[in-house]
Amino acid sequence: MIQLTIISKLENAINKARVCKPLVRVIKFGSYTVTNKATGATYIVECEKRDGKRFASCTCKAGERGQACYHVAAAVSAHLQIAVERAVLNF
Ligand SMILES: [Zn+2]
Repeated sequence: MIQLTIISKLENAINKARVCKPLVRVIKFGSYTVTNKATGATYIVECEKRDGKRFASCTCKAGERGQACYHVAAAVSAHLQIAVERAVLNF
């Protein structure tokens, strides 16, 4: 589980996600599957908000060690987009 506050920690992951362009599917708001199109490897990313802080976890090896992986970067990007769309719809 990593806390999503220091964006520089995610920078490498974001850059890798830009290159890999993994496929993100929504399970439900906050839960996503992220698939590497080249290898077919799929991992589950969970995003949650606790005490006003944002956290994300991934089922890949890096994610299990608490490292920011590109699956988290890709899922968080989709998550934020959905959150914004929800906010707009509820406006
Ligand atoms: Zn991962």
